[in-house]
Amino acid sequence: MKAVLLFLLFIISSQLTNAQHDKLNQSFQAQVGTEIFHFEFKEKNAYLYHGMNPWDVGMSIKNGKVWANKTQFYKSDTIKRNNGEDLHSKIEYDSEKLLSIKYRKNNISEVSQSELDAFLVNTLKYTPNLMLNYFNAHKDRVTQNANNENGFTTQLKEYQVELFVDEKTNLVSKISTFSSIESDDQYYGFGDVTDVYYYENYELVEGKTYHPQEVILSELNGKLKDTVEIQSLQIADHLIDLIPDPKLFEIQEDEIVKPDITIEHYSENVYFINLHHCGTRSLMVEFEDFVLVAESPLNSANGEILIAEVKKLAPNKPIKYFVFGHFHPHYTGGVRPFISEGSKILCVEENQTYIQHIADAAHTLLPDALQKKPTEIKFEEIYQAKLITDGKFKMIIYHIGKKSHHTNDYMIYYFPKEKLVFQDDLLWFDENTTPDKVGDKMIGFHDAVKDLNLDVIEVAQNWSVFDKKNKMMFDFKQLSDLVEKAKLLK
Ligand SMILES: [Zn+2]
Repeated sequence: MKAVLLFLLFIISSQLTNAQHDKLNQSFQAQVGTEIFHFEFKEKNAYLYHGMNPWDVGMSIKNGKVWANKTQFYKSDTIKRNNGEDLHSKIEYDSEKLLSIKYRKNNISEVSQSELDAFLVNTLKYTPNLMLNYFNAHKDRVTQNANNENGFTTQLKEYQVELFVDEKTNLVSKISTFSSIESDDQYYGFGDVTDVYYYENYELVEGKTYHPQEVILSELNGKLKDTVEIQSLQIADHLIDLIPDPKLFEIQEDEIVKPDITIEHYSENVYFINLHHCGTRSLMVEFEDFVLVAESPLNSANGEILIAEVKKLAPNKPIKYFVFGHFHPHYTGGVRPFISEGSKILCVEENQTYIQHIADAAHTLLPDALQKKPTEIKFEEIYQAKLITDGKFKMIIYHIGKKSHHTNDYMIYYFPKEKLVFQDDLLWFDENTTPDKVGDKMIGFHDAVKDLNLDVIEVAQNWSVFDKKNKMMFDFKQLSDLVEKAKLLK
């Protein structure tokens, strides 16, 4: 059996034959060649945002221009925002250099070697040509797709890239990427992600070479769809200089984020576990014969770090409960290790399908404990409020929902002995805050506490913290005074 598998692996990863390489080369000649393409585009970009409910999709529209040949990609674009504001960005890329001025910035951004090496993936939304050139020029790094003789595969940094050539036209029909990059808020906790770019409505440009007039991106395993309409295609005789060359351009070393953790023992039963590398604070509550943990940010690695810290603090007690204040990634992204730990997941009923989705998401590229040993989730529903107690110490979880002005599932945790509330991200004030700067979230939280008749002295916040020098502990009386003054202004 093992020998058969090895043999199959050998076949799958075998190098291209001459005929296969000819196919790539024909495609390259038909649609790339030596030309510089110039076109305008209109892009509809769908994205997950931190809205009131899981899977809330935002939409932005970009208009822009591209100049591209086989190795260089220049782009400038504008996003029109609903408030009338225009945001601009510019990019000049070739395989050795990436000059980029991002939205709301005036300076050229720093670029790491990994970003530069993987940047080709960012061109796929507008043109397949640079990637096709890469495949054609690096045939020693390209293998034939195991199930499709018109499909080719290569590994580009963290991306497994597959490129498909149409059998009849010899033009690129689609390119897909397979990765598990959790550097973007959209992808946290989702594990393996496939994005597929479809190239459609090819036009013969000025009788020379073909270019698609539409790119459709099926993103995040089909959850989101972007479209890019390409107009006014023409062959240009030179690239337009969009960004003046800086005196010095240096590629930065890749930044490696190391876990940075401190523990605060707040009271006999309450610990804060501060994850400085995420800018968040998790909560551990120690009861007589079990432990509860709240808030596990961004990805499984953080969940595993948290569990290790909890086991140091309370070596022989099971983590009976895991709870999150709301569904956003800084609270749920690292839930998977708690599922494999066997903890009960406390949440409102509406969140169960979202958490089940994170639990079901394949993590084959970066296997975590749950991938290695699938475990069924144990949910325990929270309806309005839940008391967690060992008969002595008490913690009460309250569902304040849309009173938070942040999410519909919002929960806060109350500790009657300490007169403490722990919440995620509703308070943004300090000694210098004036009543006119008090927002709906602060008022909503304050009123929810009052409506519940809770006796509160102090409020702890989970995010966003150490790196930005924001406050993480608040005096409830000070909040009350500020909110009362703010209400007089309304
Ligand atoms: Zn949030």
